[in-house]
Amino acid sequence: MAKRDYYEVLGVQKNATKDDIKKAYRKLAIQYHPDKNPGNKEAEEKFKEASEAYEILSDDQKKAAYDQFGFAGVEGMGGQQDYSQVFRGFEDIFGDFSGIFDTFFGGGSRFRGHGGSGVRQGANLRYDIEIPFKDAVFGTKVEIQYSRNEACPSCKGTGAANGAGKKVCPTCAGSGQVRHSQGFFSVASTCPTCGGEGYIIEHPCRDCGGSGTQKKRQKIMVTIPAGVENGKRVVIPRQGDAGANGGAAGDLYVFIRVKPHEYFERQDLDLYCAVPISITQASLGGDIHVSTMDGKTIKVKVPAGIQNGKMLRIRDEGVPSGGRRGNLYIKLMIQIPARLSKRGRELMEELSRAEGENDSPKPIPLSELAGGE
Ligand SMILES: [Zn+2]
Ligand SMILES: [Zn+2]
Repeated sequence: MAKRDYYEVLGVQKNATKDDIKKAYRKLAIQYHPDKNPGNKEAEEKFKEASEAYEILSDDQKKAAYDQFGFAGVEGMGGQQDYSQVFRGFEDIFGDFSGIFDTFFGGGSRFRGHGGSGVRQGANLRYDIEIPFKDAVFGTKVEIQYSRNEACPSCKGTGAANGAGKKVCPTCAGSGQVRHSQGFFSVASTCPTCGGEGYIIEHPCRDCGGSGTQKKRQKIMVTIPAGVENGKRVVIPRQGDAGANGGAAGDLYVFIRVKPHEYFERQDLDLYCAVPISITQASLGGDIHVSTMDGKTIKVKVPAGIQNGKMLRIRDEGVPSGGRRGNLYIKLMIQIPARLSKRGRELMEELSRAEGENDSPKPIPLSELAGGE
């Protein structure tokens, strides 16, 4: 069964306050508490689901990780752990519900992190790659190598040696939890004998030591779509760790970092670069030849009298995405000669005399300094 979004589980909006989250959780916890719903598997699941969601969303750090990366961001932070930890915060939550509070820690409730069948979804895995700027623009295929837990082929993921079955754990009688008294509370914790599974394997598979999984290196080809942006991720379903006892495999999240380019910069689907032109090119206009991201050389017409920093737009030479392409913007940087030849100096002086010089310039209005096209 696919995991539900934590916000959906609690029925709150993404921008819900801590108080809203707490209230929503309290309502669900009271409704589905195992002591109020003895033997009701569905209620137990709902209770666990809500507890896990609350555990993540009530913690600023975990919530931030979840908001950014989804379940992959909070892998192992919730859900697979012992809910007795969550319960420590319950006095706070149930403060004014002393009635239910009593039964809450009383013996008899059977809930555990893993569920009796031991069905468990495999962990999602994260892999980080860095790709060249150009590959992010046009898309690419990258082969990556990583380790994942796969179902052990010898025991087909059961963890039991050939034919040998599982036995209900004698310590916890299958509940996966043991209880200790702490003050006047009884607190549940994961059963040390079976690790919360509720059963033990009498003859563990020799190849995997009873875990049912084996680490295996795997090579996989990842398709990076054209136009991918820095920080985005590609999800490859079912290529994370194998599940246990029939649980689905987790997903592989490939996080993409894009190396900066020496000449090109990107904003959404548009590309930007800067090229130098001489004073005379800027004054007289003319054609220049510029390399695009594709490696083509294109002819660009510079209009006479163009000002420093102005941008020329070349249509459809930007980033391709969804059947269209952004534009390429070329910023013209007028280069003032640092040294003039003798002849150059004579011509400049002549130009100066011909055009006249303004030796009392007025400031340029800031609105005209914005650059742009
Ligand atoms: Zn046990
Ligand atoms: Zn095995």
